Amino acid sequence: MRTNILLLAALLLSAFAGGLHAQQTQVVAHRGFWQTPSSAQNSLAALAKADSIGCYASEFDVWLTADGQLVVNHDGTFRGVTVQDATAAVCAAIRLDNGEAMPTLRQYLQKAQTLHTRLVLELKAHRTPEQETRAVQGIVDMVKEMGLEKRVEYISFSRHATLAFVRLAPKGTPVYYLNGDVAPQELKEWGCAGPDYHVSVFRRHPEWIEECHRLGMKVNAWTVDKAEDMEWLIRHQADFITTNQPVLLQQIIKESHK
Ligand code: MG
Repeated sequence: MRTNILLLAALLLSAFAGGLHAQQTQVVAHRGFWQTPSSAQNSLAALAKADSIGCYASEFDVWLTADGQLVVNHDGTFRGVTVQDATAAVCAAIRLDNGEAMPTLRQYLQKAQTLHTRLVLELKAHRTPEQETRAVQGIVDMVKEMGLEKRVEYISFSRHATLAFVRLAPKGTPVYYLNGDVAPQELKEWGCAGPDYHVSVFRRHPEWIEECHRLGMKVNAWTVDKAEDMEWLIRHQADFITTNQPVLLQQIIKESHK
């Protein structure tokens, strides 16, 4: 009898623990939803389009210009201009593939204020830690000023920038590290919300997903455009998938819950 009760308790406990992570995998649009007409990577249009198809979040990249302004773009050098060596005025004159001007972070956040999708802000790794600290402080202040603190999460390949976000963003703001070279327990000690690693890292370390969940952390994987990888991550209960193919991922998530 006693054994049966213990067995039942163990079963209930494992069902509960499993239930905690049975939450549906969420879609993060990589650089917005840009593989669609009139869009472009990291454009205001891509952000609005990610929102319009109901993505959980839209990811984008941020640089600090030589004159201390924050702008949104992926490439360190774009149309021949190296963003961290250029002024904000030079960056604003650059056109994206859809004809939009390269947005400033302020313009990007103003657009976000009219939408609902969450924002996954990547600070690119800069030449010096001082630039990264200035960028992090500027970002955190601007996000606060614009009342978006509860909708923004931070990511970076730079350890320095990741730790600066943990230190300077309001307590509880999710901060994820991108570089794939730190195990869950250490990320927990950094104060991170979890790893946001290339899918190949989780393929090599599938046990890290479960370990993160045990530690109370979440898991995001980038940049997942193949159906097979999406299905693998959903099966392994990844919390977020970052993709250039948000419509495909939405279909696959829907199928997986039938
Ligand atoms: Mg990025």
